[in-house]
Amino acid sequence: MFEQAKEIIKQSNTIYVVGHINPDGDAIGSSFAIYFALKKLGKNVKVLMPKYSDNFSFLPGIKEAVNEVVEEKYDLLIGVDSSAKDRLAISEEDFNKADKVIMLDHHKISDPFGDFRYIDPEIPAASQIIYNFLVELGIEIDKTIATYIYAGIMSDTGSFNYSSTKPSTLVIASKLMELGIDFSYICKRLNDTIKEAKLKLIAYTIDNMEVYYDGKFRYSYVSYEEIKRLGLDEEDAEGMTNYLRMVEGTEVAVAVRGKSDGTNKVSMRSGGKVDVSKIAILFGGGGHERASGYTMPKDLETSKKELLDVVGGMLS
Ligand code: 5GP
Ligand code: MN
Repeated sequence: MFEQAKEIIKQSNTIYVVGHINPDGDAIGSSFAIYFALKKLGKNVKVLMPKYSDNFSFLPGIKEAVNEVVEEKYDLLIGVDSSAKDRLAISEEDFNKADKVIMLDHHKISDPFGDFRYIDPEIPAASQIIYNFLVELGIEIDKTIATYIYAGIMSDTGSFNYSSTKPSTLVIASKLMELGIDFSYICKRLNDTIKEAKLKLIAYTIDNMEVYYDGKFRYSYVSYEEIKRLGLDEEDAEGMTNYLRMVEGTEVAVAVRGKSDGTNKVSMRSGGKVDVSKIAILFGGGGHERASGYTMPKDLETSKKELLDVVGGMLS
């Protein structure tokens, strides 16, 4: 499966690994699993990750991430968990410094890039692909690598509960568990630990929820100013959709958050009837059937109205 990638890695020494901007557990898990694995092969490897949420600080070695490419040229860029080049946390300039590019991803609609691509939308997490990749590369999965892969798979499968979860996902999880990872602590840190300010943001999100189409569509917006007022950073404001979608009868849940650059980021979840990746693609974003997102192409009110119309059409 990964023969060609294996060959490219063999011939590369200076390697950068990069996930998508606003990295989630899967992007971080995928990147750092590769990072620690290639280090074992003696490669000069770095993870490019300019910004990430404090929630992930407990992960061993995460602080080794770098902000930019320092070399004039490098051998290989490995892009993970991103469907498009422009979603990678790397500048165009640094991207172009790479001699070769490998792309490993699991998004449904992709804008493929690179010399070697492996994209499987049936796999629930890029980290699961990375596990298979590292096994095929013959790299021994140690506890640190296992911790990252587990964190990645756990994040993208809703702790093995989303319908995307496969029997193979659980088989891999069991192998990771056998390596002695502290799975309970990983879960505690990623799922069950928040700042007090975030609890207040959740309350704000719920308080400001708007309900349309007989409760099938739930929408909430929080401005960047509000996020700052609560003492949070923009990355802390992720995950709000989950609370909206919990309400009985919800088919589409949308949480919109203002960002420091003045744009508004849409996070969408589906109850199963509506393929929200189609909606996201329509507005210039992407994702999966049940989880997708995009940056609002127009001002808040216009974009919201357009979204309401599209969702209304898909619900009827
Ligand atoms: P979230 O709502 O958690 O931010 O994102 C859910 C899913 O939608 C993720 O798999 C993510 O990759 C995808 N997604 C979110 N925002 C964008 C976007 O702006 N563009 C693309 N292509 N995908 C996005
Ligand atoms: Mn992912």
